[in-house]
Amino acid sequence: MINLYDLSYPALENLLQSWGFSPYHAGRIWAYLYQEQVAAVAAITELRPDLRERLVAETAVPLPHPHLDTHSSDGFTRKFLLALADGQTIETVLMGFKGRATACVSTQVGCAMGCVFCATGQMGFTRHLTAGEIVGQVLFIDRLLQATNPSANSGQGQRLRNIVLMGMGEPLHNYEATMTAVDILTHPKGMAIAPRHITLSTVGVVPGIVRLADEGRQVRLAVSLHGATDAERQALVPPARRWPLAELLDACRYYTQKRKRHIFFEWTLIEDKNDAPEQAHALGQLLQTIPAHVNLIPLNPTPGYEGLPTARPSVKQFQAILTTYGIPSTVRQRRGIDIAAGCGQLKVLT
Ligand code: SAH
Ligand code: SF4
Repeated sequence: MINLYDLSYPALENLLQSWGFSPYHAGRIWAYLYQEQVAAVAAITELRPDLRERLVAETAVPLPHPHLDTHSSDGFTRKFLLALADGQTIETVLMGFKGRATACVSTQVGCAMGCVFCATGQMGFTRHLTAGEIVGQVLFIDRLLQATNPSANSGQGQRLRNIVLMGMGEPLHNYEATMTAVDILTHPKGMAIAPRHITLSTVGVVPGIVRLADEGRQVRLAVSLHGATDAERQALVPPARRWPLAELLDACRYYTQKRKRHIFFEWTLIEDKNDAPEQAHALGQLLQTIPAHVNLIPLNPTPGYEGLPTARPSVKQFQAILTTYGIPSTVRQRRGIDIAAGCGQLKVLT
């Protein structure tokens, strides 16, 4: 069975042509998949009967099944353990604040990068997700939002408009499937999610950043830094050995020049590890020549790492030092920690 959610628009046109039908039918099928959001291929009507028969016989629209659904106590975050067709599971998070719903979507089952403070890294790598499995998470969340009554602060009862590719996995290690999913989600005849409302976070896969710069999708890019010297970064982020800071920052500069936009740099703040004033100065110096915005994420607890989050006054001091270099920064809100839905807390029991 072909998973229709795996197919980009041109790939769907090609499939139709290979079956001897006009690619013109792709538009109608696409509208059923991503606007109507039909639950089964058989619900795609208004097609010539022979094409409809072939679709029903050879294609499917499988969505992941929720195994667990947990709500944070403040009502802002909801985490799903979703089962895929082969029984593997992933986590997807719905965050809703101030009437804005954001889905935090996974790109892999586990992750091969092994960042020490990340629960996904601690579980290791199982497999890449297909484009259809990435799209499936978004459709799952969008349907849920449409089906939920509007409520004051949960951001529900609406359509999904924001996506962060910051769930389990390293999106640039699964480049093709991730970009196919982005192309599907942003396609104007479908869900038409604005590319600027999609943020992709990478651990710093240099060839992927260069390719992203060259290919021209308008998604926003976040790069996980966590250390401003190679030695400090390598202690937290193993792929830093493969792509040293000088190379990574060259790729980032190339991206900002080519795409004419700034990069978000993520910095997980760990007490006595990477939160000292001199480390803030080193970061400030490092980012002098790059249009940057720093996202500071006080460490969230994970089973495999003992560090503590930086205390509030030191976070403020870190920010103040970045300001002296003209670098804007934001402290990421701590949400969903009680249900382990915060940054770096996603994993599945094996
Ligand atoms: N693989 C991508 C995206 C997923 S992680 C990446 O690494 O960028 C999203 C962000 O959460 C990254 O910046 C990551 O370093 C950070 N993170 C991981 N574990 C964390 C933890 N325990 N506490 C706070 N942030 C964490
Ligand atoms: Fe993978 Fe990102 Fe976690 Fe590192 S922080 S292990 S790259 S998911």
